[in-house]
Amino acid sequence: MTDPISRRQLVFLTLFAGSALAGEPQPKVNEKDSLSAALGYVSDAKRVDTKASPAYQAGSTCSNCSWYQGKAGDPAGGPCTFFPGKSVDANGWCRMWNKKQ
Ligand code: SF4
Repeated sequence: MTDPISRRQLVFLTLFAGSALAGEPQPKVNEKDSLSAALGYVSDAKRVDTKASPAYQAGSTCSNCSWYQGKAGDPAGGPCTFFPGKSVDANGWCRMWNKKQ
């Protein structure tokens, strides 16, 4: 006999695992978070504060950064090593930008 609570837990775990495997979009990084502020992250590289981030190079975005794990130009963005559990914008930028080889 199956215990109803165990079955419920199993259903939850199955759904949770299913959504994780399906690559559910993660919440976008908030520019106002302390980590974003520390790294100078903006969701649109056109808005980089070049005085605060003089190393910024025109044309650099998350899409062409080596730390970006999403698809280039994907409107949903993608994961970044520096923002675990969140999605950065494909057109975003931060001071950790490193040219994708
Ligand atoms: S490290 Fe790269 S991918 Fe991550 S936020 Fe900064 S520029 Fe974007």
